[in-house]
Amino acid sequence: MKILTVVAVALVDADGRVLIAQRPAGKALAGLWEFPGGKLDPGERPEAALIRELDEELGIAVKEACLAPLTFASHAYPDFHLLMPLWVCRRWEGTVAPREGQALKWVRAGKLRDYPMPPADEPLIPPLIDLLGV
Ligand code: C5P
Repeated sequence: MKILTVVAVALVDADGRVLIAQRPAGKALAGLWEFPGGKLDPGERPEAALIRELDEELGIAVKEACLAPLTFASHAYPDFHLLMPLWVCRRWEGTVAPREGQALKWVRAGKLRDYPMPPADEPLIPPLIDLLGV
């Protein structure tokens, strides 16, 4: 089965809340909430892909040194296997804004379960609660 790598990040604000974005209508899993990120371009390093996606989707500039790896999701969808490393980032330049019209929310880790997520993303929540508290 094909392995698809999608990179993701928990952006953490000064109050310890995490940013989630709603998948737009027309995309797979529309309406579900996810951590910002996306697919790698061919030959692209994962950290470089994440920095590019954060610029494109949210208009913020992140330095690679500010990305701390936390955990990863590994989930078998019917037609591909998703591998999704999750970084944590507490420092960036610019103001987070929805560049692609997506809804955004800052949420306490303990409240993430109130927002329906793709099945691959749900196992990422407990490590975030361990790190950030509820
Ligand atoms: O975001 P994009 O649609 O490019 O991602 C490709 C696929 O990876 C999605 O259709 C979805 O099945 C999966 N995915 C996921 N959780 C995410 C992002 C993507 O399960 N946070």
